[in-house]
Amino acid sequence: MRVQPGVINLDISNISRRMATINAPDPSSQSVCTIGGNVAENSGGAHCLKYGFTVNHAVAARIVLSRRQHRRHRRERKVKRTRAVTT
Ligand SMILES: Cc1cc2nc3c(=O)[nH]c(=O)nc-3n(C[C@H](O)[C@H](O)[C@H](O)COP(=O)(O)OP(=O)(O)OC[C@H]3O[C@@H](n4cnc5c(N)ncnc54)[C@H](O)[C@@H]3O)c2cc1C
Repeated sequence: MRVQPGVINLDISNISRRMATINAPDPSSQSVCTIGGNVAENSGGAHCLKYGFTVNHAVAARIVLSRRQHRRHRRERKVKRTRAVTT
């Protein structure tokens, strides 16, 4: 899933669930916090001990530096997809 930094964490978690995947970072503030903030703080939450923190779920990022330089970062290791457990 590709998102912009201002997207609310809970919106991504809800969409991920419909796609039968998990966006594990779920801080208690997830109904108001954004992905940009989650990446900046490497947010966790109740499910992170099992499924990992934001750093474990972000595959790539396009970053704009203060001198208007753009950088693309992509994780080298392939990320294992996590299936949502429905109860
Ligand atoms: C009530 C509450 C409960 C919380 N519970 C948990 C918890 O259970 N587990 C946990 O791990 N954390 C928890 N947190 C911390 C939470 O993870 C962070 O506050 C949250 O991820 C920050 O996201 P935000 O959108 O609020 O960012 P902001 O507070 O707006 O920003 C945080 C930092 O990120 C920077 N930033 C934001 N967007 C960008 C961007 N696009 N580009 C560059 N920098 C950016 C800001 O400049 C700032 O330095 C909690 C916080 C609150 C307030």
